[in-house]
Amino acid sequence: MYGSDAIHYPQDEMNTVLVPVTSGCIYNKCTFCSMYKDEKYHEVPLQDIEKQLMNMDIYTDKIFLVGSDPMSIGFEKMKQLLDMVHLHLPYCARVGSYAAVRSIFKYSVEELSILHDAGLRLLYIGFETGRDDILKMMNKGHTVEQAIQQAKKLNEARLPFNTIIMYGIAGEGESVDNAIATAKMVNQFRTEKFITMNLVIMEGSRLRDMVRDHIYIPSGREERLVEIKTLLENLEPEQPMLFDTTHPTNLVRMFGRLPDERRRLLREIRNHIGVHGN
Ligand code: SF4
Repeated sequence: MYGSDAIHYPQDEMNTVLVPVTSGCIYNKCTFCSMYKDEKYHEVPLQDIEKQLMNMDIYTDKIFLVGSDPMSIGFEKMKQLLDMVHLHLPYCARVGSYAAVRSIFKYSVEELSILHDAGLRLLYIGFETGRDDILKMMNKGHTVEQAIQQAKKLNEARLPFNTIIMYGIAGEGESVDNAIATAKMVNQFRTEKFITMNLVIMEGSRLRDMVRDHIYIPSGREERLVEIKTLLENLEPEQPMLFDTTHPTNLVRMFGRLPDERRRLLREIRNHIGVHGN
């Protein structure tokens, strides 16, 4: 295995074969993140990836590219990688990967479309929030407008993606505004699934220092639950979208389809609000 002992991948990909493509994080500057803090960024050579593919079960039908942002390797390398998957795993129907908004900048609509046709069928993208001031504070390296543009490029290329957002990220007193802004951003593009994560203050992160220095005050549990409710009230997807709060960081586990199951999901979240700490 390359670099880190820690492998991060979405829980939906638990039964998917993992293929390391990068280790470390090419960006490594997000305020809330210390996941790859002490790790050097490294791209796995294509010949090593090919060896791994050749040793896999030929009937493998799903693979997930491992690394903080495998799309950072660029079009040429990604296309070669997908061609190798096609050659050695002819039954593989879906390649999935994490991707940063910043990486999608590198690709034209046509290139994204070529990658889709070559087998790349699902990206997981960390949009985090729809507020520019919070993106700046968290040093995410993109703006809301840029995020919307990149999402629309993916829509145009018909490359499906899941949208990951992080509630609690805006800090105390800011959650309702954050939810409204985040829903407004997501309402402007089509996404398969809306995945929530709950902000965790990671040891070793810059955000941890900001909390210690009282520059940043994290929101409490109740405020975060209200943030989830506000998201549910304001998301108006253009096409049906799954709403998924089952990632382990979440305060509550909910799963359903929007807009059809909005009332049921709202009922569930309302049942949690005001329950703890009374
Ligand atoms: S959140 Fe993602 S892009 Fe940001 S530093 Fe962590 S791994 Fe890198």
